[in-house]
Amino acid sequence: MEIAKNVLLVFRTEVMYQPVIYRLAREFDLVFNILEAKIFPRREGRLILELRGTPDRVGAGVAYLAKAGVEVTSIADNIRRDDERCVHCGACTAVCRTGALAVDRDTGEIAFVPERCAACGQCETACPMRALAGVNIERLGGVEAVR
Ligand code: SF4
Ligand code: SF4
Repeated sequence: MEIAKNVLLVFRTEVMYQPVIYRLAREFDLVFNILEAKIFPRREGRLILELRGTPDRVGAGVAYLAKAGVEVTSIADNIRRDDERCVHCGACTAVCRTGALAVDRDTGEIAFVPERCAACGQCETACPMRALAGVNIERLGGVEAVR
């Protein structure tokens, strides 16, 4: 059985130019998609990756990244919608390309599925209630980018 996991990788300057991703693909037999990327010159690089593989391989790959000095943050574990603020207007669904925000046909409400989120930040801008603050690659789960 294969799983897919979206993670934020933060590369500080000391690991930014190492062939870490190359080894991840080659040695752990993982398929990955780059969902978002942001470079802060001479400071850090940030990647949102979707990792696909068996649970063992994904776990081993994440452990390898951490050991190599890359900061690894699970997106699903660190991203939240403020349900107290959400009024289910649906504005965010128009900009969400991954299906993380979509109409629940049973309830008519807008469901948020963190496991599908790519932290692109589009919904943060679209939401009139600021229910999705911090859902972006620069400020994921309180992991603030170095300025
Ligand atoms: S745009 Fe904001 S208030 Fe509207 S459904 Fe999405 S999260 Fe809720
Ligand atoms: S940040 Fe918002 S718009 Fe982007 S993938 Fe996640 S839920 Fe969808």
